[in-house]
Formats: sequence, structure tokens, C-alpha cells
Amino acid sequence: MTRQAKEEEVREVLKSVDDPELPSVSVSDLGMVHTVIVDGSSVSIVMVPTFAGCPALDFIKADVHQAVLELDWVSECEVEFSFELKWSTDAITDEGKKQLKKHGIAPPPENYEPGQEWTVNCPYCDSDYTSMDNVFGPTACRSILYCSSCKNPFEAMKPVVEYAIK
Ligand SMILES: [Zn+2]
Repeated sequence: MTRQAKEEEVREVLKSVDDPELPSVSVSDLGMVHTVIVDGSSVSIVMVPTFAGCPALDFIKADVHQAVLELDWVSECEVEFSFELKWSTDAITDEGKKQLKKHGIAPPPENYEPGQEWTVNCPYCDSDYTSMDNVFGPTACRSILYCSSCKNPFEAMKPVVEYAIK
């Protein structure tokens, strides 16, 4: 197998590793996979941490490690989070956004600029007649909102964008 084919295989496997806090949304669809390097039977993966406040990074690391080791040509796998890389909610793929919605979590607004007020559409009925009920969601990365149209409470992922300091 060529090196490129192996790297593709690893990336494919990462599509099946979910973020423990966001069931059915893979680390790959969240835009967390930065680099995959294959050297013979060793794999090294550099990932971008999502929300700094999320305590799930160790779990994700262990899950990724285990999933990659299941490939029969892999004997070693190293997973690292690079805190120098900046993740933004714009890195979430369309598939990732679809999966979030399926689970009643509104995907973050696109092209958000820091400080801007943000609105999200209800993941159930797509209405934009929603209100922020409680900014403190179950985790640091999510907020609880309320849809005034279909009367469902739902969660929304907070937008995260960081700009390089000039
Ligand atoms: Zn609704």
C-alpha cells in the first residue's frame, strides 16, 4: 500500500470517531484533524483542539488512538493536540452541521465576527424566531435556546473565531 493510500485510510477511520460530547459528529467533520503522517507502520496525527473549555480532549485522543490501531498495518500511533493551531467553528464540514442538527443542536453561525450578535435557526423547524434562554449550556461550548415557533428548547453551538493578532 502506498503512503498516500495509508494516509487516506487513516483519514477515513477518523470519520468514524465521534466527539464524545457531540454524538454522531466525527472529529473529522468537526474539522479537528490537522495532519496525518504515515511512516511505514507508524502513524502520527496532529489535531486541533476545539473549545478550550471542553474536557473531552483526553477521551478523543484515546478514541482516535484506538481506532487507528485497529488498522492491520498500523503498529504505532501517536496523537497530539497542537494548541498553536486555531480552530474555528467555520471548520465544521457540511456533513458535521447536518449531524448536529439531527441531534437537535443548531450549528454555529457561519462567517461570524467576534463581538457580533448571533442568531441561529431552530434545528427542528428552521425558524429564526428563537431566543437565548440560558447562555450556560450543559458544556462550555453550547448554549440553550428556545424556539418561539415550535416551542422546542434546543442547543446551539457557540461560534468560535479567533483572528491572528496583528
Ligand atoms: Zn422550532
